[in-house]
Amino acid sequence: MFNDADDTILDQGWKKLPAKHQPQYPDPDFLKTTVDYLRTLPPLIFAGEADSLTKEIAKATRGEAFVLQGGDCAESFADATADRIRAKIRTILQMAVVLTYSASVPVVKVGRMAGQYAKPRSNPMETRDGVELPSYMGDAVNGHEFSAATRTPDPHRLVEAYQHSAATLNLIRAFTGGGFADIAKVHEWNKGFSSNPAYRRYTTLATEIDRAMQFMKAAGAYSESLRTVDFYSSHEALLLDYEDAMTRIDSRTGLPYNTGAHFLWIGERTRDVDGAHVAMLAQVQNPIGVKIGPTATRDELLGLMDKLNPEGKEGRLTLITRLGANKVEQVLPQIIEAVQSDRRPVNWMSDPMHGNTISVGRFKTRRLDDVLDEVRGFFRVHREMGTIPGGLHMELTGDDVTEVLGGSEEIVEEALGDRYETLVDPRLNHQQSLELAFLVSEILRE
Ligand code: PEP
Ligand code: MN
Repeated sequence: MFNDADDTILDQGWKKLPAKHQPQYPDPDFLKTTVDYLRTLPPLIFAGEADSLTKEIAKATRGEAFVLQGGDCAESFADATADRIRAKIRTILQMAVVLTYSASVPVVKVGRMAGQYAKPRSNPMETRDGVELPSYMGDAVNGHEFSAATRTPDPHRLVEAYQHSAATLNLIRAFTGGGFADIAKVHEWNKGFSSNPAYRRYTTLATEIDRAMQFMKAAGAYSESLRTVDFYSSHEALLLDYEDAMTRIDSRTGLPYNTGAHFLWIGERTRDVDGAHVAMLAQVQNPIGVKIGPTATRDELLGLMDKLNPEGKEGRLTLITRLGANKVEQVLPQIIEAVQSDRRPVNWMSDPMHGNTISVGRFKTRRLDDVLDEVRGFFRVHREMGTIPGGLHMELTGDDVTEVLGGSEEIVEEALGDRYETLVDPRLNHQQSLELAFLVSEILRE
């Protein structure tokens, strides 16, 4: 069931195509009224910003930059607080500093933030004690609590998702443009964390950066641009009703943009070449990503490139491979070969999280070692094949959670329950994120 407004301007052909993983709303009329209302709300991002990100990603495609994309598996409304948002931004900024300073590569910073409120679920229904209810699909759809009232998809949540996205993006803009991201603050970002190897290493690096800054100031080479950073937003474009409402015509160019985030990606479960998600994103001008799992075929890859980037524009299409540590070396070469035969450029990113999910007792978790192995495999294969590794897509948080096993703090299976806070997939905590950044900076320097 889709909203019919604005048929005149946008290509609505996707509405007739099969759409996977959409919520079943009990009241289609209420959905329509809500989506009509959403369509009247202001854009969250602007066309020029999306174009700038396309240019940045194009640089990554050429090896002149590296994209770092990270954030929660699913944001929650309850966690859209100043402290938690700041902690996430800080983690991404710290990782970016490690990569920029240690590997001398400009880092394009993209939060999996300000809109990541919807999840595809392998089973649309969940049964507990003989009671069957819709699975939790993210705060934009229903609530996590297991009750019929909370689990029934509620269109009003789309408006709440918009509001929380707006508030989050406002804070992101304030933090990254208002001095918090000032490179002179590299030391401060690390305050309040206990002493451990990753932090000691970070502190040493921050001291080196401070010295370099003082030198630049003394030499008259200090620039105001070091006080701010560009920080982009992104989420999985899953809910077609929401994404449709956020798709607007840019008055400057007359072209459609998704104004809900700078970068949108299509998930592994909804990337059907002839499905609604691909058709909808084919018409917007934003940079687009597609998750690529180990079963992706040559025809699917070529079909995605054809539909999503027919003109072969650099920076437009990112393929985010998520293969698993034990499959990356075997499968990635075939994927690269298929894409290379097409000759249109793609940006290659690695999501080393989603191919490495395991269950330990009642917890969904991942081993940091597997995550690092997939990252190493990703770089190794690209280097062997002469293609360019252009970025990383991570599930992480700025908080001190215990969701992923391992790391120098050695989170063991018995400790998973201590601070397991995610509503969906396990995230690297602040320290594990820094450890990963140090590893990647070493690889980039090789
Ligand atoms: C995700 O990014 O949270 C996700 C569901 O990934 P994928 O589509 O790659 O399975
Ligand atoms: Mn996830």
